[in-house]
Amino acid sequence: GEELKGKRVLVTGASSGLGAHFVRLLAGQGARVVAAARRVERLEELAADCAGLPGQVMPLALDVASVPSIQAGVAEAARLLGGLDVLVNNAGIGETEAAISITEAQWDAQLDVNLKGCFFAAQAAAQVMIAGKQGGTIVNIASILGERVTARVLPYAVSKAGLIQMTKGLALEWARHGIRVNALAPGYIATDINRDMLESEVGATLVKRIPSRRFGEPADLDGPLLLLCSDAGRHMTGTVVAVDGGHLV
Ligand code: NAD
Repeated sequence: GEELKGKRVLVTGASSGLGAHFVRLLAGQGARVVAAARRVERLEELAADCAGLPGQVMPLALDVASVPSIQAGVAEAARLLGGLDVLVNNAGIGETEAAISITEAQWDAQLDVNLKGCFFAAQAAAQVMIAGKQGGTIVNIASILGERVTARVLPYAVSKAGLIQMTKGLALEWARHGIRVNALAPGYIATDINRDMLESEVGATLVKRIPSRRFGEPADLDGPLLLLCSDAGRHMTGTVVAVDGGHLV
């Protein structure tokens, strides 16, 4: 169906992986989507791919590591769309490193993009939504690592744990404006950046801890993302929806 027909959507980190997948999914459901990434030329192929879909895709430059870039980018997205109904805070970075050797730059980079950037994008989006008086929905792409830490991913896990707590706090403050804020917490999902790792011996060990005995694929997130973005999830706010084959059970 076209569950999101005409909905005005902004997706960050849209040039690859899950972000690009979400743009295709939402435009396929009839949404008008601003696909944002640091380098706008990386969005050309995605925009061309989506040309035949029921919705619309508009590329936009937005660096989630910079608060002025976020504020200008969200304002430009709202101008292109004539308002904003949905923000998908998808941009995120992670690096594997033992806690004993993590540098300040590594710590700051992950916390800035995954936590601070998501906060200021949510704030800018909520300002537009409140002014538009039609509510809205914000989906923060967290991770199961935000709920259960493993070795060598500390800044990433801390940033995602913070993002989950932020989701709940914003849900509390913005419910009165009709703005819902939820987190989607994927387990391991095979995309271009991690497929080699998941197919290696490390992956073979990891997969044994997942009750479903497989890694996720981007399409496993479709139903849950649409639920959180659409009216189907209209009474859901402040929740964390895990999509992990039972990994956290
Ligand atoms: P990915 O690296 O393909 O996607 C991340 C995107 O964020 C990239 O397009 C990257 O360019 C963008 N990005 C990074 N820094 C940015 C910045 N400063 N400004 C704007 N964009 C920036 O990886 P992915 O797996 O598609 O990850 C998407 C989201 O899903 C991330 O938040 C990630 O933490 C989360 N996630 C992924 C998995 C998984 O297994 N793939 C599991 C749990 C959570």
